[in-house]
Amino acid sequence: MTLIEYRQDESHVRKCVRHGSSISKAQSSKLLPSLSNSSKNIPQPSILSKMTSALSAMLRARKSAPLLWGIVICLVFFFTINFPSPTTAPCDCNNENSYNDHTTSGSSGLFPSDKHKMALLIPFRDRFEELMEFAPHIHAFLNSQKKNHHIYVINQVDNLRFNRASLLNVGFLESAVDCDYIAMHDVDLLPMNQALIYDFPHDGPFHVAAPHLHPRYHYPTFIGGVLLVKREDFRLVDGLSNKYWGWGLEDDEFFARLKEANLQVHRPGNLTTGNKDTFKHIHDRRVRRRDMIKCYNQQEVTRRRDRETGLSTTQYHVQSIKEMSIQGAPVTVLNVILECDRNLTPWCDCTENVGNVPRSQRKSEKSEDVIVPKLNRKTHITQDG
Ligand code: UDP
Ligand code: MN
Repeated sequence: MTLIEYRQDESHVRKCVRHGSSISKAQSSKLLPSLSNSSKNIPQPSILSKMTSALSAMLRARKSAPLLWGIVICLVFFFTINFPSPTTAPCDCNNENSYNDHTTSGSSGLFPSDKHKMALLIPFRDRFEELMEFAPHIHAFLNSQKKNHHIYVINQVDNLRFNRASLLNVGFLESAVDCDYIAMHDVDLLPMNQALIYDFPHDGPFHVAAPHLHPRYHYPTFIGGVLLVKREDFRLVDGLSNKYWGWGLEDDEFFARLKEANLQVHRPGNLTTGNKDTFKHIHDRRVRRRDMIKCYNQQEVTRRRDRETGLSTTQYHVQSIKEMSIQGAPVTVLNVILECDRNLTPWCDCTENVGNVPRSQRKSEKSEDVIVPKLNRKTHITQDG
């Protein structure tokens, strides 16, 4: 069973990734107590073989006894129905909660007063120092709000350009399903005001890092940085586009999806802090350079709404899963290899071809499909990092 075969169906991905080649037996039994326990229900071959040899001895003794043959047939029938092979047994298609439960680190249901649980998804590559500061900070911040949560670092380990949106899709698919909402959370944004609430977003997506609070981006349709979305809403819009390799616009395309689905974005109100003191943005732009390269027809395609790709088309392998604790904060690191459809998005790798298709060669586009926000550089962007 390979992972790729099952990726088109979200539930299959989540079931079958556990049994795919990417996770060793030792890892999966450690990470998946529920699955390894379920295999205990499967009769061990030694018991079966003992029963078989006892029966065959009886048969040899009374070769013509039809009653014994009847028992043998009934037993074979019984085991076939009740004990399917170990590879299919844990893949119970109708019970989401029976698989993908690798939140073993104790955060599940820590706060009974909170009826929900958040999967904090951090798209990640090469931000070690930021993570060391972020994980303990957010864990303490959410604990003081008594919010059930678990931190997932979705670490892109392939050689392609960074793809924040696809990593968030992977995080959604791989996070435990007892988390009923996700936070799409940048690793370099630290909430500093306890009045920022990370509650279950009952009424639709909740943009914690609102334009009036984010240290850098202030345009009205901005939904990047920190966004809370409940599972059903994320699925409704088919997650994020997979076409955004490199920096920028994937969150604006996601905004277009939410708008089209009539999901209104809510934001914090009545805070005493503003865009300088609500979040700490640990980002030095000379050290952590934004990948603004454009190649092939990237610019033309990514400025438009994507109706082709999303959660359901995300192609990836989970290379390994590591459970760790960062100064007491439990963290699950998913080392992820993204796959790129080079016919659809050749710009996932710009080493061969840098530069854009000339304007004259670009296809015409429906104006309502343009997702690029109209920015006034003076009022909508602060050069903070
Ligand atoms: N990111 C990362 N490695 C990269 C680029 C981005 O881990 O090479 C993640 C990280 O979580 C970061 C987020 O993507 O906070 C957004 O990227 P960035 O901070 O560069 O964008 P900004 O919002 O500052 O423009
Ligand atoms: Mn940043």
